[in-house]
Amino acid sequence: MDLSTLDIAVIGAGIGGLAAARACALRGARVTVYEQAEQIAEVGAGLQISPNGFAVLRGLGLSGAVEAAGDRAGAVSLHDYRRGPVLRLDLTRLESRDYWFLHRADLIDLLHVGAVDAGVCIRLGTRVEDPGALDADLVIGADGLHSVLRPRLNGTLAPFFTRQVAWRAVVPHDGSRKDEARVHMAPHRHLVSYPVRGGAWLNLVAVEERSAWAEESWSAAGDPNDLRARFADFGPAAKDMLKRVNKVGKWGLFRHPVAPVWTDARFALLGDAAHPTLPFMAQGASLALEDAWVLADAVAKAPDMATALAAYQARRIDRATRVVAAASGNAWKYHISSKPLRLAAHVALRVGGAVAPGRMMHQFDWIYGHDVTGGETL
Ligand SMILES: Cc1cc2nc3c(=O)[nH]c(=O)nc-3n(C[C@H](O)[C@H](O)[C@H](O)COP(=O)(O)OP(=O)(O)OC[C@H]3O[C@@H](n4cnc5c(N)ncnc54)[C@H](O)[C@@H]3O)c2cc1C
Repeated sequence: MDLSTLDIAVIGAGIGGLAAARACALRGARVTVYEQAEQIAEVGAGLQISPNGFAVLRGLGLSGAVEAAGDRAGAVSLHDYRRGPVLRLDLTRLESRDYWFLHRADLIDLLHVGAVDAGVCIRLGTRVEDPGALDADLVIGADGLHSVLRPRLNGTLAPFFTRQVAWRAVVPHDGSRKDEARVHMAPHRHLVSYPVRGGAWLNLVAVEERSAWAEESWSAAGDPNDLRARFADFGPAAKDMLKRVNKVGKWGLFRHPVAPVWTDARFALLGDAAHPTLPFMAQGASLALEDAWVLADAVAKAPDMATALAAYQARRIDRATRVVAAASGNAWKYHISSKPLRLAAHVALRVGGAVAPGRMMHQFDWIYGHDVTGGETL
């Protein structure tokens, strides 16, 4: 289809919505984004963009902006919570060096500027209650976890609490660690930290297993002293980071089924609205970017909207389902509670890292090496 003949409405100015808006506008469509928030404000903490997500940002002509705002990741290291280093994975061995640490607000900002530059109209403070009332040839539901479009296409799909809670904070840092993510692994808990904004800050995500329910919201506040108490048996490196927390968010981790139906007539879901994921593969943002590219590409290549939307879902659902399943299966690996089992697992990781470092890295090629753009730039 010729996108210059289309009016497209996007619900949600998150990462997926803004990327889809720019992708469609660069192909000629008239695009309006409806965002419930009054302003595109500084919310959230660090995000990781792996090479598969970066490929889309490059295809959208935004690689320079990412390089200016982000920090290129060089390594991920795994640590026992008390005994110290277990394994260091060298990300420079990846085929693409474009693994990035970003502040979510910086990524949203560069996508926002990119969308406006492409001619997208953004209507802030406009919550969509009824997607069917939007007058457009295509309505894209990029409205996240609590999507209004998802239940319209799928009914209500109940999530279940994973018995894990994530604490999120950004703490000041001296700039000494610019390119390394660290995971401190403990019984029933782990702490992930990585630099953002040139190492001036560290993004912390502390995950703990617990039986009580916690709210599923990025903005629920937690108590820093409670966080420190729950990780009090960690060694000095982790404690030093937690000491600096003065504001923390708390997020109940829920597993949601991938939506079986992503599209209908003139409606399409993308990003978290279609396939919310647990954070253990750090793929939420990158998957939303992939969806955004493929949706615009499918519309451009198909003769009509029905064919386009069917092709979009067919190109995306298996991959999204596989990545979401990989993230769901990953948490226990960090949380082994039996001491002998934990030590044995750490020895196996150390030996694997020493004997076959390439193999440790290349296990993720199917995620990171997937380039939905095929090298194209809009
Ligand atoms: C406030 C916030 C903070 C986050 N912080 C982090 C973080 O620190 N680390 C991390 O890894 N991930 C974070 N995420 C999640 C991460 O950004 C997403 O997993 C990923 O980017 C996929 O995003 P998405 O575009 O599908 O949806 P989202 O990024 O969730 O964006 C959805 C957008 O839709 C808007 N919206 C929802 N309903 C409506 C409606 N009815 N009408 C109009 N607008 C609507 C929302 O306000 C939001 O801007 C955060 C998400 C949000 C919304």
